[in-house]
Amino acid sequence: MIVMKFGGTSVGDAARIRVVAGLVKGSLPRDPVVICSAHSGVTNALLKAAEEAGRGTVEVAALVERHRRITGDLGVEAPDVERLLAELEETLRGVALSRRVTPRALDLVASFGERLSCRTVAAFLRRQGVDAQAFDAYDIGFLTDSNFTNAAPLAETFGNIRARLEAVRVTPVITGFIGKSLQGDVTTIGRGGSDYSASIIGAAIGAREIQIWTDVDGVMTADPSLVREAKPIPEMTFEEAGELAYFGARVLHPATVQPAVESGIPVRVLNTYNPTSPGTLIVPRLEREDPRPVTSVAYKENLTVVNLVSTRLLMAHGFLAQIFTVFGEERIAVDMVSTSEISVSCTVDARQDAAGVERAARRLAEVATVSVEKEQAIVCVVGHRMRQEPGIAGRVFSAVARAGVNVRMISQGASKINLTFVVHNRDIEPAVKVLHREFFGT
Ligand code: ADP
Ligand code: ASP
Ligand code: MG
Repeated sequence: MIVMKFGGTSVGDAARIRVVAGLVKGSLPRDPVVICSAHSGVTNALLKAAEEAGRGTVEVAALVERHRRITGDLGVEAPDVERLLAELEETLRGVALSRRVTPRALDLVASFGERLSCRTVAAFLRRQGVDAQAFDAYDIGFLTDSNFTNAAPLAETFGNIRARLEAVRVTPVITGFIGKSLQGDVTTIGRGGSDYSASIIGAAIGAREIQIWTDVDGVMTADPSLVREAKPIPEMTFEEAGELAYFGARVLHPATVQPAVESGIPVRVLNTYNPTSPGTLIVPRLEREDPRPVTSVAYKENLTVVNLVSTRLLMAHGFLAQIFTVFGEERIAVDMVSTSEISVSCTVDARQDAAGVERAARRLAEVATVSVEKEQAIVCVVGHRMRQEPGIAGRVFSAVARAGVNVRMISQGASKINLTFVVHNRDIEPAVKVLHREFFGT
């Protein structure tokens, strides 16, 4: 068995879904388990509709029209799509009545994206002669905690899915991104989470390969939307892919590699716009020694740096513990930390929960002098040879200085395969471009 996960652009319209169906048909001898995202842009539109409903306005016409156009263009009968669209409207009306959009309601509304796209893809596969059936991930045992909008899968998910899929004889088309809590509420596992769903399902069934089908030729030497000259990376380690994803390379959700590492299943990143290109193979260890000092350059924008200066002259022990307890209690993830005798600076991701960051800063002001810098970004250089090769840091910072970019914080991860630093949002482009030129010559 293999897992084939198709992202939002890959199921973005009828023409893309025809390509997907061709790829699935071509893989039938390998028993594919198909995972789909919502059609591109639909999750954003649903979240916006939920917010609007919270203010009392229910507006679904554009979403209804988008889904009907796709089924119409594909020529499929889709009674379950119509049923779900009606259910979506009803759900939004419920939100509008309460005039309040809770994280629980946001997740329920967002879940319609994947539930709808999977119905359409399965219906079209059937039309193409494939015995396919859509499944909501929670109906095959995908359970999570109740941390709405960023829920963590529960351990029993793996056993549940293995048992349920063993009994399925058709080609399953399963929703990415969503699960259910033990209380029976629909949850989502974080934006971009369908990759993570795919690797969890792949690990559960002991797949031979987890294929992540997207809109670029694999994991590349930099974000191709920023660096036009970026090249696909034929092969990389789980460790490198994990660091790149964690530090912003959107092509993979950061948690994707974890279930794959634990089960030793290779992950292949492929392009539905260019299906014959070999893409990127992500494996535990490289077969051949790779001479490149650097594998890729990633960035993560719109972060906040929280600077804390201890109000006592020297940091008392327990100071760091206090800081991380506050961030932990506010559920704020810290990406990077640097310390001195009297100060600590942390980068936190304020994109998802700006209010949480503000609450944390207020609480921390009781133990330290706090200053907050917004619109910051992390740039991260990743490569497994960075361990052995001296002088890479020198090359990185000379190149960045040449581009006139001011570097604020620096950290070399304990894994020693990344070198990370903070710049202002506006310096991302010059920094990433100059580093790409330095290490890849273009
Ligand atoms: P999908 O909808 O298929 O999940 P995403 O939009 O989540 O696709 O991820 C693919 C996008 O990730 C690419 O279009 C590209 O712009 C971006 N990206 C960022 N960094 C990289 C990188 N290093 N390699 C490839 N793509 C990257
Ligand atoms: N549809 C979800 C999102 O847009 C999940 C995904 O595409 O991976 O975040
Ligand atoms: Mg994605």
